[in-house]
Amino acid sequence: MRDRPSGTKINQLDPNARRILERAELEGIELIRFLYADHAGVIRGKAASRSRLAERLSTGIGHTVAMMAMNMLDQLQEVEHMGPVGEVRILPDPTTYVPLPHAPGAAAMLSDLCLPDGTPWEACPRTFLKEAVAELATEGYSLVAAFEPEFTLGRRLPDPAGGPDRLVPLDDSLCYANTGFDTAHDYTIKLIHALEQQGLRIEHYHPELGPGQQELSIRHAPALRAADNHVLYRETVRGVALRTQMWATLAPKPLADQAGNGTHLHLSLWSDTRNVFAEESEVRDGFIGGLIAHLPALTALTCGSVNSFRRLAPRMWSSAYAVYGPDNREAAVRVCSPLGETGEPNLELKPSDSSANPYLALGAVIHAGLDGIRRKLDPGPAVDVDPDTRPGQYTRLPSSLDEALDALEADEVLMEALGPLRRSAYLAVKRSEAAAFAAKDVAYELFHHMRVF
Ligand code: GLU
Ligand code: MG
Repeated sequence: MRDRPSGTKINQLDPNARRILERAELEGIELIRFLYADHAGVIRGKAASRSRLAERLSTGIGHTVAMMAMNMLDQLQEVEHMGPVGEVRILPDPTTYVPLPHAPGAAAMLSDLCLPDGTPWEACPRTFLKEAVAELATEGYSLVAAFEPEFTLGRRLPDPAGGPDRLVPLDDSLCYANTGFDTAHDYTIKLIHALEQQGLRIEHYHPELGPGQQELSIRHAPALRAADNHVLYRETVRGVALRTQMWATLAPKPLADQAGNGTHLHLSLWSDTRNVFAEESEVRDGFIGGLIAHLPALTALTCGSVNSFRRLAPRMWSSAYAVYGPDNREAAVRVCSPLGETGEPNLELKPSDSSANPYLALGAVIHAGLDGIRRKLDPGPAVDVDPDTRPGQYTRLPSSLDEALDALEADEVLMEALGPLRRSAYLAVKRSEAAAFAAKDVAYELFHHMRVF
């Protein structure tokens, strides 16, 4: 065991903090990353050194409020109360400490953004999800979720013509093709080890449709844990690739003419030990009705980037219409049939990708479903055809980020749920991204999204 850093007063710490400190020593951890997701959907953070960890676990790390006004191009937006004056703390959740296998010597903790007195800041995304979970609990329900990500594996190479770097996919294997398992094998096994070591349980893996496209799904968990898991997942997919001289991106459409990377969101609603989606009921219909009614606005949060809307096209199995249907893979909400007798029925929200802030996305989904339950919203008839084969019959999802943001601004329930500071910052950040990419060409958009996500 290494020397304990001086001045940590380990015996005075609460048991959680003491356990973390002891683990960090034993595991040779030097830096503990306090991570959060910003309004752009980017995972950011600051790291505490092990020698200062004892203090930082209780004080957090100081941070400027302005970072929640930063867009995905690192352009700071003008947002009232998010200027150069003002402090928050990145305060880690002690239950989330985890060494990062792909970054030896580093660990991560998922964090809240708090005021200096320790109370949650009104623009903290993780708090938004916690509050949504708490509100759902007042109606007697809890939500279990799983993010089901797809990503593209390849190499990031300079453009010979001097333009932005390009993503060159790993292979051209076919969908589910056995050769695809082999081309990506070394990376996939490293990734699985790294995820399992962080406590993320792997469900399935397969080579997906597009060049270099992979899908590796993670077991479901209670809502907050599912969002935390997705942050770790995103960073591990990219971190493992970096350490093997590869590049992985979860950007929704990194190659404009190929299959998109969805991150479908699987949801089940529980009342004590009963899965509400297991049989037809007013509550189940209400939840689906809430999703359908709020979908145009919801996409501004679940499909958070300009690049997201390149993915949401008909006949791409990514969904393009605000409809639901049993095992309908072109419906925005697929009612999934359970696997075997022990499987649980769940809903799959397809307009969802990894450029979203997972806390805002899942929190907004809860608010939409809750509104549907409370107002007993009728989801209408289930759709059992590809909705694109019935022109004019169904509501099209927004076709651009700006259109989705217009829908969000018009959605009183979601705007109210976000609250004044968060919604003004989110809208400013996302409007700025829409404008910045509208002024440039497709190559610029693809480059920046594969770089960041
Ligand atoms: N790649 C599709 C998407 O963008 C999903 C394909 C599938 O797994 O059904 O959502
Ligand atoms: Mg897939």
